[in-house]
Amino acid sequence: MGDIPTQADVVVIGAGTAGTASAWYLAKRGLKVVVCEKGRIAGEQASRNWGFVRQQGRDPAEIPLMMEANRIWQGLERELNADLEWTRRGNLVVFRDEAERAMFEGWMDHAKAHGLDSRIVDRAEIGRLIPGTTLGALGGIYTASDGHAEPAKVTPSIARAAEGRGATFLENCAVFGLIREAGRVAGVVTEKGEIRAPHVVLASGAWSSKMMAHMGLVFPQVWVKGSVGRTGPAPEVTGPAVWAGVALRQRQDGSINFAVRSADADLTMQMLLHSRTFMKLGTQHLRDFHFRLRKLSFDTALGHFSQTALERELVRYRTLDPEPNHKVLEGALAELKRAVPALGDIRMAKSWAGYIDMTPDLLPVIEAMDTPKGLVVATGFSGHGHGMGPIVGRLVSEIIADGQPSLDLSAFRFSRFHDGSDLSAATAV
Ligand SMILES: Cc1cc2nc3c(=O)[nH]c(=O)nc-3n(C[C@H](O)[C@H](O)[C@H](O)COP(=O)(O)OP(=O)(O)OC[C@H]3O[C@@H](n4cnc5c(N)ncnc54)[C@H](O)[C@@H]3O)c2cc1C
Repeated sequence: MGDIPTQADVVVIGAGTAGTASAWYLAKRGLKVVVCEKGRIAGEQASRNWGFVRQQGRDPAEIPLMMEANRIWQGLERELNADLEWTRRGNLVVFRDEAERAMFEGWMDHAKAHGLDSRIVDRAEIGRLIPGTTLGALGGIYTASDGHAEPAKVTPSIARAAEGRGATFLENCAVFGLIREAGRVAGVVTEKGEIRAPHVVLASGAWSSKMMAHMGLVFPQVWVKGSVGRTGPAPEVTGPAVWAGVALRQRQDGSINFAVRSADADLTMQMLLHSRTFMKLGTQHLRDFHFRLRKLSFDTALGHFSQTALERELVRYRTLDPEPNHKVLEGALAELKRAVPALGDIRMAKSWAGYIDMTPDLLPVIEAMDTPKGLVVATGFSGHGHGMGPIVGRLVSEIIADGQPSLDLSAFRFSRFHDGSDLSAATAV
């Protein structure tokens, strides 16, 4: 057994985007927080994402959260005293087809209702945002107040700030399950021993469905693998983060992160178990998914049913680090060069992949559970959690310290998966 704290006010499971931000806000409220991370801080989705921080195109239920998150992002570097490569130069979607244009034109009603600065733009304006681009025949949508930030810097900087306020981060410390007493949470069992606490935050990203299965909670969640490439430094071609079939974000050093929407959907046990619930989403996005059976699918097949198997998987896969889909990335690079001829014969300097966790309606769960009391769930961010991280952390701290959140979280309740609610995804991004 390692030398770990035995008591805390709050234990957070997972030092990713949501868990680390929760720890930061909880520590600022003066609570004693211990974060248990099976691998390393920000090892999974938190450091592997594209870095977009957008209000644009969000599900109507997420818009108020993202508007508040945007306000937090504007002061976050100052607050953390850290460089996050935060830049507020907009988010641009270039329409791929008429269906996409119709969807975003419809979404503009929500933007107007919330007073967002999103607007439909024509080819000429797209040309001003990305000089020389071949994109934009069908127009696009642009939100100038959106931005982007460097994932490799954000969560580690928040963790450092949280440590500065007294939070403890334990890496290589998987949580195996909850300690319960009299129907409520009394702490967690970790691979290094027990930590007693009246509150536990479950922020375990792609692992949440398995973790919750052993807590008696059926959480429909699947993993899909997204691959990302990075070019070497280039002269500035875009300020906004762009989604145009190929996604691109130019970083501070001039290099460009790029990706395409299509993802590898590994056939895991979660996918089989929840296939009925995901049927609608699968049909909506069929052209974007390549279904595959991998070794990981077998290695992680039993963790849903057997506690021993779950424990084995958590320590075996300390940090999910899948091989990127090189073929998809080569296609994405070719598309990037076609879209932005000024890049000439730019090369790929680096690539990686990450497992994105998805729910059937592409919305997270952010809620204090009724059973067991003391458990707060913040997970299922469905490819949107980087931008939302800071507000999620603040809301979790409000749930625990104030007994209620300052924003309406009813759309993110866990019970929607089981009470016959319509689980159609409201947006396609
Ligand atoms: C390729 C890609 C592109 C993306 N692009 C964007 C984007 O542009 N904008 C955006 O907003 N979002 C984006 N996302 C999504 C975003 O990264 C995620 O929604 C967000 O990081 C999820 O945060 P999380 O805390 O829920 O999960 P994670 O950041 O994955 O953290 C979960 C952590 O929990 C740990 N853990 C799990 N189980 C246990 C356990 N039992 N004990 C201890 N630790 C445990 C894991 O090791 C992990 O570190 C993208 C994601 C990917 C992969």
